[in-house]
Amino acid sequence: MNQFEQQQGPRVDISATTPLVCACGNETFKEVMYMRKESRLMSGLPTDRLVPIQLIACDKCGELIEDFIPAPLQQFYGKNSSSDVEIL
Ligand SMILES: [Zn+2]
Repeated sequence: MNQFEQQQGPRVDISATTPLVCACGNETFKEVMYMRKESRLMSGLPTDRLVPIQLIACDKCGELIEDFIPAPLQQFYGKNSSSDVEIL
């Protein structure tokens, strides 16, 4: 069995891990909550609703960790978010 296939398992060999280091050199991170509003026109619900998005940010400079940004949100919060993304 390939040990690299089971990264979701409960056993983690800490000595085999590497630290995640922010571009600013800091190694500590915090959970940050972003809120997005879903229009009732999109959801079909009677009212707009808020959707909480939890992301991980550097505890020092506040830079978001790209790996924790869900793909659909990369365009909003990722470093590669371009200014020519269509805003409806
Ligand atoms: Zn940082």
